[in-house]
Amino acid sequence: MTVSVGITGATGRMGREVIAAATGDDDCRVAFAVNRDPEDETVDGVEIESASEFDALLADRTPDVVIDFTGPESALEYASSCAEAGVAFVTGTTSIDDEGFDRLRAASEEVPVLFAPNFARGVQALVNVVGEAVSSLPGYDVELVETHHNGKRDAPSGTAKRLLAEIEANGEFTGRTHGREGEAPREAGEIGVHALRAGDITGEHEIVIAGNHEEVRLTHRAEDRGVFAAGAVDAAVWIAGRKAGWYDFADVIA
Ligand code: NAD
Repeated sequence: MTVSVGITGATGRMGREVIAAATGDDDCRVAFAVNRDPEDETVDGVEIESASEFDALLADRTPDVVIDFTGPESALEYASSCAEAGVAFVTGTTSIDDEGFDRLRAASEEVPVLFAPNFARGVQALVNVVGEAVSSLPGYDVELVETHHNGKRDAPSGTAKRLLAEIEANGEFTGRTHGREGEAPREAGEIGVHALRAGDITGEHEIVIAGNHEEVRLTHRAEDRGVFAAGAVDAAVWIAGRKAGWYDFADVIA
């Protein structure tokens, strides 16, 4: 079965990669692609339409799944439209707050919804192992450093938040310290979090676990945004036809 997808944020950094991944995947076809203010008429031969047409395109082209990489407000609006139209929703948009997640979960009562702050398989592997590393090294200092391109809006990254949740669930920590300046000695039990923004760096996450005259470093480095797009398209193909509910990228690659 070929899964038909609608793509939002189509002329953004990720949207372009999703179009390339979807058009290159035999299991997938692009039903439509929209952007808020379309700057290009086509991307990889796919017509870019105005986001104001989104609801009409959902009704007319009846995609199986919408793949969204936009911003937090628009992601939630698209999720609501998909819930009303009975279309599955896959989003990699980060910086969604708790209230936003409540709205996404409400949509998942009507249709399948999958959110992943990172669609790289290697990051899922990192999420899987970081908790084990932290719980094996009680009392060691833990710091997280994430590095992204200079156009990234949110900090720390959604992936960093996911990794921090995993770290906190597997050790005794007192809180997060975001950067340091001036007289700022390290307190026992804190988790240092550092966000670097420079150039066109796709995305790096490193967890440093140090103590007892030794250190462990766990690092993921995405070399190309195509890795995220391929994961999002895999998720769309996987989620099509499933029952309404809340799904995780770990389910896709299990
Ligand atoms: P970007 O700014 O390059 O692209 C966003 C695009 O969405 C832009 O073209 C913008 O015009 C468009 N847009 C904004 N509001 C819109 C709307 N209402 N309707 C249609 N289009 C709209 O950003 P990006 O680097 O592509 O990142 C987008 C999001 O994806 C961010 O939240 C980022 O953190 C996240 N991201 C997630 C992953 C992952 O694997 N989950 C990977 C990379 C980026």
